[in-house]
Amino acid sequence: MADCIFCKIIEGKVPAKIVYQDDLVVAFEDANPAAPIHILIVPRKHIPTLNDVPENDPILSHIATVAKKIAENIGVAQPGYRFFINVNKGGGQVIFHLHAHLVSGKDIGSKFIKGAISLAVAWRKLVAKLQSKS
Ligand code: 5GP
Ligand code: ZN
Repeated sequence: MADCIFCKIIEGKVPAKIVYQDDLVVAFEDANPAAPIHILIVPRKHIPTLNDVPENDPILSHIATVAKKIAENIGVAQPGYRFFINVNKGGGQVIFHLHAHLVSGKDIGSKFIKGAISLAVAWRKLVAKLQSKS
């Protein structure tokens, strides 16, 4: 795809810190990391979103296997990491070339807990506000 930044990275036309590659995928560091380790695993083939992956296409299991291998190689299989795919704008997808995120770092767990706590506080405030109006 001519205007796809990830296609350009795969073709070597745009630089990226590549950490792994094979016949099916290329994995590189995210340019704007959300945590100390943030790697994107991208199929060589331009597939816009997870919704466009044909049933029984082996690419998804391959991406997961590669994530697992990278996590082992960089030493984050233990204590752990997050592995996810954003799908379409509503799911937070910004680049429309399928990619999985591998995110890890010492503060991921606490960030998640802080996020959950602030959501719970906001929810309780909203409920209290609605109850005071009724
Ligand atoms: P999405 O929100 O689409 O799931 O994630 C896109 C990711 O791609 C973001 O985390 C963003 O930082 C990363 N990204 C966007 N443009 C580039 C780029 O040119 N190079 C690299 N390495 N990462 C990029
Ligand atoms: Zn592409």
